[in-house]
Parts: sequence; C-alpha cells; structure tokens
Amino acid sequence: MGILFWLVVIGTALFLVSRKRFSLPVATAAGAGILLLGSLSGFLSGFFGVLLALVFIGLAVIFNVRSVRHRFVSLPLLKYVKAVLPPMSETERAAIDAGTVWWEADLFRGSPDWDKLKNYPEATLTAEEQTYIDGPVEELCAMMDDWEITFELNDLPPRVWQFIKEGRFLGMVIPREYGGLGFSAMAHSEVVTKLATRSVTGAVSVMVPNSLGPAELLLHYGTDEQKNHYLPRLAVGKEIPCFALTGPSAGSDAGAMPDYGIVCKGQHEGQEVLGMRVTWDKRYITLGPVATLLGLAFKAYDPDHLLGDVEELGITCALIPTGTEGVNIGRRHFPLNQAFMNGPNSGKDVFIPMEWVIGGQPMVGQGWRMLMESLSVGRGISLPSNGVASGKSTSRFVGAYARVRKQFNLPIGKFEGIEEALGRIAGLTYTMDAGRRLTCAALDQGEKPSVVSAILKYYNTENMRTVVNDGMDIIGGKGICMGPNNFLGRPYQAIPVGITVEGANILTRSLIIFGQGAIRCHPWLMDEITAASLPDRQEALESFDEALMGHIGYAIQNGARSLFHGLTKGAFASAPIYGSNAKYYRRLSRMSAAYSFLADFAMLFLGGGLKRKEMLSGRFADGLMHMYMASAVLKRFEDSGRPEADQPLLEWSVRYSLFQTQVALDQILRNFPNTPIGLLLRGIVFPLGRRYRTPNDKLTQACARILLSESDARNRLTEGVYLSDDPLDVTGSIEHALKMVVAAESAERKLKAAKRTQPYGMDYPTWLQQLTAEEVIDKTDEAALIKSAEATHRIVMVDDFPNEMKQGSVASSASGANSDRATEV
Ligand SMILES: Cc1cc2nc3c(=O)[nH]c(=O)nc-3n(C[C@H](O)[C@H](O)[C@H](O)COP(=O)(O)OP(=O)(O)OC[C@H]3O[C@@H](n4cnc5c(N)ncnc54)[C@H](O)[C@@H]3O)c2cc1C
Repeated sequence: MGILFWLVVIGTALFLVSRKRFSLPVATAAGAGILLLGSLSGFLSGFFGVLLALVFIGLAVIFNVRSVRHRFVSLPLLKYVKAVLPPMSETERAAIDAGTVWWEADLFRGSPDWDKLKNYPEATLTAEEQTYIDGPVEELCAMMDDWEITFELNDLPPRVWQFIKEGRFLGMVIPREYGGLGFSAMAHSEVVTKLATRSVTGAVSVMVPNSLGPAELLLHYGTDEQKNHYLPRLAVGKEIPCFALTGPSAGSDAGAMPDYGIVCKGQHEGQEVLGMRVTWDKRYITLGPVATLLGLAFKAYDPDHLLGDVEELGITCALIPTGTEGVNIGRRHFPLNQAFMNGPNSGKDVFIPMEWVIGGQPMVGQGWRMLMESLSVGRGISLPSNGVASGKSTSRFVGAYARVRKQFNLPIGKFEGIEEALGRIAGLTYTMDAGRRLTCAALDQGEKPSVVSAILKYYNTENMRTVVNDGMDIIGGKGICMGPNNFLGRPYQAIPVGITVEGANILTRSLIIFGQGAIRCHPWLMDEITAASLPDRQEALESFDEALMGHIGYAIQNGARSLFHGLTKGAFASAPIYGSNAKYYRRLSRMSAAYSFLADFAMLFLGGGLKRKEMLSGRFADGLMHMYMASAVLKRFEDSGRPEADQPLLEWSVRYSLFQTQVALDQILRNFPNTPIGLLLRGIVFPLGRRYRTPNDKLTQACARILLSESDARNRLTEGVYLSDDPLDVTGSIEHALKMVVAAESAERKLKAAKRTQPYGMDYPTWLQQLTAEEVIDKTDEAALIKSAEATHRIVMVDDFPNEMKQGSVASSASGANSDRATEV
C-alpha cells in the first residue's frame, strides 16, 4: 500500500477525531486496527513497527486499566497540580466565581457552535426606549456645550444637572417600580454612547450612578427597607451617589485596602445600637465632591466578638449619607481637565449603624463577592459605549473634515496616507460597535459575562485611543488648539481615564482576561482544581481522574482539529451561512482550535506560574479578544441584513481580527517557555505557516471612502452620534460643511475644467461673479461655491483668545503630595 493510502488513513483519522469525541475503548480499538493494517501491509514493519506496537500496547494498558492509570498517570499528575497551583485567596476565588461564561467559552474551547451565535437574540430597543433616546437624550445633548462645561464652569451647568435628575438619567438601571427607567443594557448603552459623542463630562456624570454603585448593589443585595428608601430617591437624583473603593495604597489591588470598620456599639438617632466605627481614606471617586450618598468599601473587624467567633470579617459595603458627622468629602481632582466631579474622601472613627451596611448585618464581610458579582454588567456597558462613541464621532466628523479640508488642491481624505488612517477608524469603529451590540445582547439575556465584559472594556478603550489618535493626526492643528470649536481635543485628553478606570487596561489584559477566562471557560480545569483541593485522598484521586480523562480527550481533539484545519485551511470547518463570508467562520474555527490547544499546553507547562507570565497571558488575552470581536462583527453583519455597502467594513474587521489572533498565537509560540515543545506546537498550529494577512490597501481605501461622503453605510456606522443641524454648532458646522462641499461638487468640476486661477488681490466672491459673467459657471454654481467656501472656512478656523486670558486658577488651592510646590507655582 502506498504513501497515498496512508495519507488518506491519517487524514481520515484526523478528520474523525477533529469532529467527534470517541470513548477510550473505541479510540484504542481504532488505534489497534490502524497498527494492524500497517503491519499486515508491511508499512509498519521492522524495528520501528515493533517499537510503535509496544508503545501503543503500553499506553493502551495504562489508560484503559483504571488502577494502572490511577497509579501511573492520575496520582503523579494530581501531586503535580497540587504543587504548581498556588493557594487561591478568598478574593481571587470570589473574582473567579463571579458572573457567568457565555459565547467566549465556545471560542476558548476550540469548537464554536456558530448556530448558537446566530440564534442569540439581537440587542434591540423597545419603542419607549427609542422615544427616550430621540427625546430627552437629544435634548440633553443639545443643552451641553462642552467648552462651557469644561473651561468656563468646570461643572455641568445647573440647568443640565436639573434636567439629568428630572429626566431620571441617573436611574436608568433602577426598575420602574422604584421610579427608575428600568432600561435594558442596550438602551443604557445607547444613552451613554449618544451623550459621550457630545460631552465626556456629561456622559461620565450619567454613566457612573448607572454602573457599579449604590443602585446596582442595592438592587441585588439591599434589604427591602434600603431599597424602598434609597432607590426612588436615587432614580430622580434626590440622592447623588458615588462608590468609593480606591485609595492611595490600594488601586488595582483594591482587595488590599487598609480602610477598616470595628464592630461596636454607638449612638444613632438617640439610641445605642450595634454598628461600626469606620476609618477610611479614598481618592479618585467619581461624583464624590457632590455626592449625598457615599457607597464605601472597607474591611470589617470584630475584636470584641459582638457578632460571633470570627474576628476578621472581610470586605463590607455600606451606604453613608455624606452629611454624617466626620465624613470629609467635597474636594476635587481634575482628571485630565475633564469637568466631571471626582475627588477624595475620608473619615476617622465615623460611627455607622449596622442598618447602613448594604444588605444589613448578614452581609457584613460579603462586600468583595458583591462587587465582583456586580462588576461585569457596568463594565460591559459604560466604557465600551464611550469607546464606541469616540469611534462613531471620529468616523463621522473627522471623515467629513477630511472631505472638506483641502491641501495641494485635493481633499486631504483622498491622499493615501490619510486613507490608511480613515480606513482604520472606520474598521475599528465597526468592530467596537459590533462587540458592544453582542455584549449588550448577552446582558439583556440575563448573563453576567465577566470575561466578555473585561474583553470589551479593554478592546473598546484601547481602540478608542487608536481611532482618536488617528483622528487627531488627520485634523492636525484643528484638534490641537483648544476652544469652543475643537471637537476632538477634549475626547483625546480623556482617553487615559477610560484606560485606567473599571480595571486598568494593562492589568485587565495581563491578568484578568485569560487568567479568569482560562479557569472559567475551560471545560475541565476547574474540576481538576476542585478535585486537587479535596481533603479526602481517594475522593480527590477519583474526581481528578475523571476530569483528567475528559481533559486529555479534549486536548487530543483540539490538537487534531488544529492540525486538520491548519492543513486544509479550515475548508472543512463548519459555517452557519453560505456564500463568500462563510470562509471567515471557518477561519475563526481554525484559530479557535489552535488557541484552545495552545492554551492547554501553556497551562500544562506553567501551571500556576502562568499567572506571573503576564506577557504570555496577555497574548492569550489578545487571541481570545480578537476572536470574540471577529465573531461579533460576523453576527452584526448578519443581524443587519447583510447590507452590501457594509461588506468592506465586515471584511476589514474580520481580516484585521484574524491577523491579530494569528500574531498573538505566533508570539505565544515564539516565547513558549520550552523551545522544542514550542517548535512542535508550531507544526500543529501553523502546519502551512501563517497565512492570514492584514486588510489590503484596496479594502482599507473602500472603508475610508465610506467616511468621505453621505451614504447609508456612513449613517449605519455612525448611528447614535448626536447630530446638530445648527451650522454654527461645534459639530453641526462640520456636517453642514460636508453638505455644502458635496453640493458644490459639479460647480468645482466646471472651475477645474476651465483651468482658471483666482487672480491675486481679487477676493473669491468677486472672482466667482466674474466667472458667472463670463458664463464659465452659472448663478446656481456661484451660490453653491460661495456657501461651500463659507462653510469650509468656518470649520477650518480655530479659536484664538486675548493674550491676557489664563487657563485655570487652581494651583494655589491644591493639596496632596506636591501641595507645597503647587502653592509656590
Ligand atoms: C478619573 C477616575 C475616576 C475613578 N473613579 C473611581 C470611582 O468612582 N470609585 C473608585 O473606587 N475608584 C475610582 N477610580 C479608581 C480607579 O479604579 C483606579 O485608578 C484603578 O483601579 C487603578 O488604580 P491606580 O490608579 O492606583 O493605579 P495602580 O494600581 O497603581 O496601577 C498602575 C499601573 O499598574 C498596572 N498594574 C497593577 N497591578 C498589575 C498587575 N498585577 N499586573 C499588571 N499590571 C498591573 C495597572 O494596570 C496600571 O497600569 C477612578 C480613577 C480615575 C482616574
């Protein structure tokens, strides 16, 4: 029998194993059959044949005979796992247990079920939610002048605060029964997105009370009394909440906070009651300076055993009215000159009754779990929506500016260098928005996907940075000179805020996405870890053995799948659609199998040490993240009815994501801690090399062109941006200019064809009049050209101010680390 026959046998075996999980006896019988066939045909003969047969028999006995397997495989591995797994702290355990796993688990496990993705209900708005967005949200946007807010007032104007409170903007997540709006995640996200396209300060002020804070915590853990008292007041802004977790010595490692509360008796409303004396020092707290209700996290201790035997009770969350004696609050920070309220607060031995603990006395010590469980919802909405807002407004307004602004006699958007940046802006905006929609769909289905929300927070804030930077490069000095007419400088300044809050990005990428994702999404890992921690040795061995066998089968299948799809370029992977886009599903299936296979090997080699290998873990985060975003893009395209004009955006986004996934896997292999194993794995993951490329220039140009003129594709991409029809408005003027320039295009062509140049010393209107008189253009052309020139002039101009004008006057009142120096300046 020839080589061809054996290639077919091996190929078929790979195909079957990649598609179906076989039981151990069936796999053993199949292996024996192939060996027998090999030796009968003479293909496997001589020393090599005998060696192979002996190895096979040895492995068959070890794995099929339970007692032998226990002794030679499971027990040594159980000991290894016990040795390499660091003890898990309470806070780590709470973080890992929090939330749910969702679609990301399919991608992690190497065999995404595309029909499942297709059938997830799309995130939509109810008629009422849409009416709110078209009404009060539009109105609020129109009321906000970001220059007035940030430069002149350093706060939202009182009328805007009033409108926010009365419009129940602060109660979007509060159910109607408590007087809130009871909005879906999608509606919440749409509101934040639209507000953020107008004013970062406005968006943040609305966003924070609806994210992780008193309302969310009360809803899930509050006593009925607390809910009935606070939720209606929070819904209409009678209480302004903030939530204080971070302090000077506990930032990313919030669990290490030194803030404490000692259980004791004290006076409350004229009576002696059980409570705590709380001491804290917090900073960076959004809305803190104007808050009336302070959500506070601190560690509770019970040295006098008033509650029971345990002394260290753990992190506890309480709600403290800021008017309480001893609460120091009201000073503010200036977070990159954004005007949203943010500041420090502190207290020393402030007595709070037990009834101020969220959930009351039974919830003392449960704070960390509460925070972890509730974190994913807000994290999946707030900052990702801000990222999308930046993408959409940059796409819309920078695109229009690039069409209107001319240099070298051409709109700058037609130069390839600018097209490259514009194409990236369009593609990344499409991707960020797709991720937002898919994640909102999950949240609206009641999921609390902690890994997905970390992915989205990271991805959308990082790419906000990319698109806004690109936008700034495109508009040049127009973005740099601050003033009422600068539409991008303020969002640009705000970028690091999004990067830092709700889980700083480096930490999120290096530690959380894969660290949590691996444990949560892996089908066997958690079972193995749990088994390893069982106190009864026999029970631990039995459970571990069961999980291990499942794990080995899973790993073999992913290896076979990775190799098979790698060799066949994913041609046999499944796709839920027909047509040219089906290949993208297949390619993603291929990457998913490779990812899963590699993740298993990395965990096997590094065990708990993977936690410290943050560069490796960060690349695994990248891989999972780009696969998630690519699948979100595919779903978005299908859900929106496959508009042909959006095809370049779809292709750009998926190709970009596939390429980035490939980069992540390649980098993992390059830096694999064991070089020979790394090489072997490379053969399985990239048997035909790295085949995915970045989007080509044609595709990038097609995406760029979408931003340069009015079209349905542009409107779809930028849907949700606040658009003003005032031609004097900061962004309304750009919209207006684009319209005017497009309307004057035919007149421009006539001018060009006439090859006439404006004589020096003659102004433009006079010259046009002359051309009209000479019948080079007609009256309509003349009017269109004048309007176009006026509108263009308006948006090209930047603000200037009297020389005496100074920015800010706060240095002398600064306090903190450099207060002495600050006072001197
Ligand atoms: C404008 C603003 C608003 C905020 N609002 C609130 C609020 O309302 N309530 C509240 O409680 N907090 C709030 N915060 C605090 C915010 O959550 C923290 O700033 C954040 O957790 C990071 O803490 P830190 O700034 O002390 O940075 P650090 O913890 O000092 O981190 C510095 C850098 O180290 C990285 N890092 C830390 N540990 C690791 C690790 N193990 N591996 C890799 N990298 C690591 C981080 O990613 C970051 O890049 C706000 C902060 C700002 C700036």
